[in-house]
Amino acid sequence: MDGAVTASAVVLTSPDVLTDEDCPGISPHPAAPRPERMALWWIEQGLGHGRVVAYTCSCRMTAYELVSCGGVYQIRRRTLSRRGVPPVSWTAERWCRGESLERWRRLLAGLAR
Ligand SMILES: [Zn+2]
Repeated sequence: MDGAVTASAVVLTSPDVLTDEDCPGISPHPAAPRPERMALWWIEQGLGHGRVVAYTCSCRMTAYELVSCGGVYQIRRRTLSRRGVPPVSWTAERWCRGESLERWRRLLAGLAR
């Protein structure tokens, strides 16, 4: 019953999201970077097989995931490969849970990128 699924999804999504057919409208979208944002340092080395505990919507060209591995947290960035930017990169810093949630909150607010 495709129609029923679509109907319930419409109820859950906000009106501005409905204009974008590729967007499931479930995960958050990071805000545009603000001038006063903190710069995160991105490297290609990551935690490897961790658990994704939060993620941003995949409809954007760049998506972020908060990954937990053995009590250590790191943010993973997936983006279209382009000059100087690998398709998958990680924050150079690794944090405890509380610190990582603070960085994640800033990233969503456009205050870290
Ligand atoms: Zn989206």
